Amino acid sequence: MLIQSSSGAFAEDAAFKLVSREARPAGTVVNVSGVEIGGIGVVVMAGPCAVENPEQLLATAKAVRSSGASILRGGAFKPRTSPYSFQGLKEEGLELLAWVSSETGLPVVTEVMDTRQVEATCRHADILQVGSRHMHDYALLEEIGRHDKPVLLKRGMSATLEEFLLAAEYILKQGNEQVILCERGIRTFEHATRNTLDLNAVPVLKRHSHLPVVVDPSHGTGHWWMAPWMSKAAVAAGADGLLVEVHCNPREALSDGPQSLRPDRFDLMMNELRAVALAVGRRIAGRCPEGDRAVVPDP
Ligand code: PEP
Ligand code: MN
Repeated sequence: MLIQSSSGAFAEDAAFKLVSREARPAGTVVNVSGVEIGGIGVVVMAGPCAVENPEQLLATAKAVRSSGASILRGGAFKPRTSPYSFQGLKEEGLELLAWVSSETGLPVVTEVMDTRQVEATCRHADILQVGSRHMHDYALLEEIGRHDKPVLLKRGMSATLEEFLLAAEYILKQGNEQVILCERGIRTFEHATRNTLDLNAVPVLKRHSHLPVVVDPSHGTGHWWMAPWMSKAAVAAGADGLLVEVHCNPREALSDGPQSLRPDRFDLMMNELRAVALAVGRRIAGRCPEGDRAVVPDP
């Protein structure tokens, strides 16, 4: 099988020794503290762009949980374009994530930007996120590959799908096979949206790789009002999950307020998503009763 490369030439799937679909035709299901990503259930990960304070994180976690999200997102180490913007609560943010996880039963996903942050992040989080700006950081990919912790690898904003799959290959090559691919939009000439969400990526990645694929409509569009539309489109296109930014008071958010959904709008979106998931033979992954870890229910 072949995948088109950036140069227009074709690279053989054989270049993707470990991530190619041929290596595991049945597909990989990544188990995140009881939540299965890559199975029939579509897993929704939701929460604020950044961890800001205990009240904000706990309130958002409870809201997204009651709407049906099964994993909490929130950045402790924030990669910001300007060095003068809020850089995240760092270690304190990790501790807040672990606390809210134990309060709500939601596993947490958070970004790690540097090899020196990997140990502490592994202790506090259930999934290590590699952000778009770090997809090409091969030392970081290798370090994460040496750990036994699920990884959410985001596509570089200018990376081809071939480069994206080869970045995942770096992680698997070190022994960590629990990798989830995340399409989060790419840079194009279009300025109406923050990025151009490349939903072509979903079927291409699912065809050529056995790894689960999730979509981030928040960074992919930059507009809260677009997130429900593109979430539904992502599920229809075959995504195994979504990563969505939600904030109780987006106008006051320390980062990415304009693309963050209010909890009431997120709730509406989840209802619409259930119908789309059913229409394509999937369902939204559910949770056990309060306090328990999330699970995918029986069909
Ligand atoms: C994020 O998820 O908060 C983030 C910074 O995303 P990206 O790396 O896709 O820009
Ligand atoms: Mn963000």
